[in-house]
Amino acid sequence: MTYELPVDRLFIAGAWRQGRGAPINSHFPADGTLNRVVHGASIEDVDLAIERAQTAVSDPAWRSLRPHERARFLYKIADGIAQTAERIAYVQSRDTGKTITETTALALSAAGTFRYMGAALETLEDALTPSRGDYLTFSVYEALGVTAGITPWNSPIASDAQKVAPALAAGNAILLKPASWSPLVCLELARVIEASGLPAGLFSVLPGSGSLVGERLVTDRAIRKVSFTGGTEVGRGIARKAAEKLMPVSLELGGKSPTIVFADADLDVAVAGVLFGVFSSTGQSCIAGSRLFVQRAIYDTFVSKLVAATQALRIGHSFDRTTQVAPLIHPDHRSDVEAHVRRALAEGAELLTGGERPQGATYEGGVYYRPTILAGVDNAAAICREEIFGPVLVVLPFDDEGDVIAQGNDNEYGLACGIYTADFAKAWRVARGIEAGTVWINTYKQFSISTPFGGVKDSGVGREKGREGIRAWMAQKSIYFDLSGKPHPWAR
Ligand code: NDP
Repeated sequence: MTYELPVDRLFIAGAWRQGRGAPINSHFPADGTLNRVVHGASIEDVDLAIERAQTAVSDPAWRSLRPHERARFLYKIADGIAQTAERIAYVQSRDTGKTITETTALALSAAGTFRYMGAALETLEDALTPSRGDYLTFSVYEALGVTAGITPWNSPIASDAQKVAPALAAGNAILLKPASWSPLVCLELARVIEASGLPAGLFSVLPGSGSLVGERLVTDRAIRKVSFTGGTEVGRGIARKAAEKLMPVSLELGGKSPTIVFADADLDVAVAGVLFGVFSSTGQSCIAGSRLFVQRAIYDTFVSKLVAATQALRIGHSFDRTTQVAPLIHPDHRSDVEAHVRRALAEGAELLTGGERPQGATYEGGVYYRPTILAGVDNAAAICREEIFGPVLVVLPFDDEGDVIAQGNDNEYGLACGIYTADFAKAWRVARGIEAGTVWINTYKQFSISTPFGGVKDSGVGREKGREGIRAWMAQKSIYFDLSGKPHPWAR
């Protein structure tokens, strides 16, 4: 099934307009063909979106909606995404090269995010706080105002939904800036949001360069919060600029997550989990389990099983439903991945499999790269420290719990961790000892919208998802009601 790709129009302040910024070329990574040229937003477009968002967010027609009324928009958006999930998945696969199986799941998860945030909104409660005087004291939560979401290219519809749904649920306006390598799928989201009848101006989509559009959203004083998902260095820069205007930010950043396989693990479960953890999404995942620690007693057996299973992975076209490893997003990104591997080999790493582009007619013109496993280095090597964001795994041995916790934590990042063992008490101890926002035991890369997600250390600050996810888009206000009816004694 093929669908028309979105045309060269952005959804700004409730209307479809051609962007006045530079053209952005979207290519299909499976064969290199041009999908579309979309003109990005200019500074004038961003300013227009901000101005209209300010008006829309303070309009009583939106501000005075009760939670169940506001939630109705979220349910409509959820239904709209679910009903057109096939089309959204198609556009996202064309935009990013991801397999159609994965993009279908991402579209459905985005629908689930809107539905969950609608339900969470309807059931959130304000607090009557204990009083220390003749007062009734309340703690209420209110919208921040105009907010922004800045997202990367690796799972656009899902990461967009994780920002737009709680922002709207909280009563804000939100301006979304997608990554320049994937400008199309957010236009599909805009189509669904427009059809939901959401008041004009509350949502705009502003593709365009990070240094222009992104920067403007971060620095404009009208923007009251930025939620950013992307690389650590860009996130650090955003945090600095946010500090200047004392604006709250949420930063979902990079990772170099350890996966730990103990000698008592079910090896088939562990092999499947490790493969999925690092090579699904062609490794372009912030939570990729890209550092593998295998207990010394099973190191050789496990690694040879893993290498054989890796070599059997099906590398293929994004629209082939049997594909496990699809193309990377962009030729420049593949060059970066290749440079990481070359450098590791120059520094003495041993190549166990991969390390090259697959050959043959199927791969002609596409941005393919073989799943790669490296070994023979210690945890201090660059390949163990730097995020590669591609299908590259490095394997290291470890001795015992203490050793693997120390090696696992000896890294700037702290996003996720996987633990494979039959001993649940050990799994618990290691899970508590590892510095990470999420730990999976005997599984990997599983998500629930009701479970908070985020990182520690260089992997970011703040949490998305979960009921509290909406609170992150709100300001808390305390209200004291005097019950005494008497003048304050000080004034006597
Ligand atoms: P980038 O940090 O390069 O870009 C992310 C977004 O920020 C893009 O929209 C980009 O725009 C924009 N941007 C770039 N520079 C600025 C700036 N100065 N001001 C404001 N916005 C800016 O990341 P990638 O798109 O390359 O994505 C990969 C990274 O994202 C990886 O490090 C990955 O780990 C991380 N990530 C983290 C996740 C998490 O939840 N922790 C989930 C998914 C990815 P443009 O594209 O125009 O440059």
